[in-house]
Amino acid sequence: GEVTLECDMLVLGAGPGGYSAAFRAADLGLKTVIVERYATLGGVCLNVGCIPSKALLHVAQVMDEAEHMDSLGIAFAKPAVDIDKLRAHKSAVVGKLTGGLAGMAKGRKVDVVRGYGHFLDPNHVEVEETTGTAQEKTGAKKVVKFKQCIIAAGSAAVHLPFIPRDERIVDSTGALELRQVPGKMLVIGGGIIGLEMATVYSSLGAKVDVVEMLDGLMQGPDRDAVKVWEKQNTHRFDKIMLNTKTTAVEAKDDGLYVTFEGDKAPDGPQKYDMILQSAGRSPNGKKIGAENAGVIVTDRGFIPVDAQMRTNVPHIFAIGDIVGQPMLAHKAVHEAHVAAEVAAGEKAAFDATVIPGVAYTHPEVAWVGYTEAQAKAEGKQVDTAKFPWAASGRAIANGAEYGFTKLIFDAETHRVIGGSIVGPNAGDMIGEVCLAIEMGADAVDIGKTIHPHPTLGETVGMAAEVAHGSCTDVP
Ligand code: FAD
Repeated sequence: GEVTLECDMLVLGAGPGGYSAAFRAADLGLKTVIVERYATLGGVCLNVGCIPSKALLHVAQVMDEAEHMDSLGIAFAKPAVDIDKLRAHKSAVVGKLTGGLAGMAKGRKVDVVRGYGHFLDPNHVEVEETTGTAQEKTGAKKVVKFKQCIIAAGSAAVHLPFIPRDERIVDSTGALELRQVPGKMLVIGGGIIGLEMATVYSSLGAKVDVVEMLDGLMQGPDRDAVKVWEKQNTHRFDKIMLNTKTTAVEAKDDGLYVTFEGDKAPDGPQKYDMILQSAGRSPNGKKIGAENAGVIVTDRGFIPVDAQMRTNVPHIFAIGDIVGQPMLAHKAVHEAHVAAEVAAGEKAAFDATVIPGVAYTHPEVAWVGYTEAQAKAEGKQVDTAKFPWAASGRAIANGAEYGFTKLIFDAETHRVIGGSIVGPNAGDMIGEVCLAIEMGADAVDIGKTIHPHPTLGETVGMAAEVAHGSCTDVP
């Protein structure tokens, strides 16, 4: 095709990685084009990931709390759910954010070209125009010529091959569409995405089973944090089937019949009204014609990069879910800034010491850096300090005395190298631990920092005091 557009920087994909890279590149003076197949900017995170899930989790939490006020002297009637209104609320939240991004792109004169992009060669991407919400191709094509490129094409949910196509079987995108609240729901995969959606649907009234191949839910945080979470969530689930595989699904008119194999497998097929597949995400590396540009893609679809986020082709960078784990928005944004700055001739490298993880469930679980399990596996000597929220005035007042804050210190240097928090707002609090790790803080630094009282956040300071051996009684 004929070249219809020329630019300094082409960004493929407009998720948190792509839009952050494009905005930074434009701010640094590069003429920038974003190619995106969706109608809106924001990628998975804003359209069908982080943001809509949190909009629904917030509502679910309000419902849960309202139900448990009896003993505090407040009784609400059972909440009545208007699912159409709830869906509209979620869409409005997403719309505000994606609309904001469009304005920011315009303000920076970043050109947005809508359609599927694929490489023709190391300096050209062809874009097949898409329209509507289902990304139908119109047949129109454009060719964009670029000097440098940042690939930010993200990832997609894994679909298990033996599971039939049926509208009652969804991935996270389908679950977030909130078509209906099923009677019985199966969540395949007990990771963060699965458990967040399980939380939403169970709060809305579904009975939920979870099946997980591994021996524990929520891989990542220390098991003691997950245990607290499980105890607070037993009411949500009929069955949590660990060490168990889903081996067959049969879609019949009256329900979805699922067969399991393993430790906790029930006898015979179980009947469900809805199934969520949340058994992982796979990078989109094999779907963009990378081979035409000479960019190496691994068997699994990841694109290898160096600390400057360069692929093996020096003027082509890659960032976000497509370059590897952890597949998280804040990691993508960080990498995006590095890639754009390097492309603009600045000195930059991705050298974050830690990347935090958060399950925005009820309660939240947040962790960063070393876990006790990881330290043990590596033979690393650590000191651990745990502050139970049963000793926090604010946690007791908030009905959250089941939570805890734990810090992990290098036994030799005494610096903090990890932490986990379980309880309401854990995700908002883990940022302090991230900063402490990046700054090389030790227990005295954190413990002598005055935290506001009474807050859940002061439990970080109190955990540091525990480590320092000067634990005071500060409810
Ligand atoms: P993406 O956001 O995947 O964006 C890639 C973009 O590229 C997409 O818009 C796609 O349409 C476009 N694209 C791909 N190929 C092409 C092509 N050939 N042509 C044109 N466009 C193309 N992370 C968090 O940190 N916190 C959370 O709370 C969180 N919650 C999540 C909840 C769910 C349900 C899901 C699914 C994910 C969640 N994540 C969360 C993960 C987060 O969404 C991703 O890590 C993040 O979106 C990755 O950003 P990215 O820029 O790499 O790619």
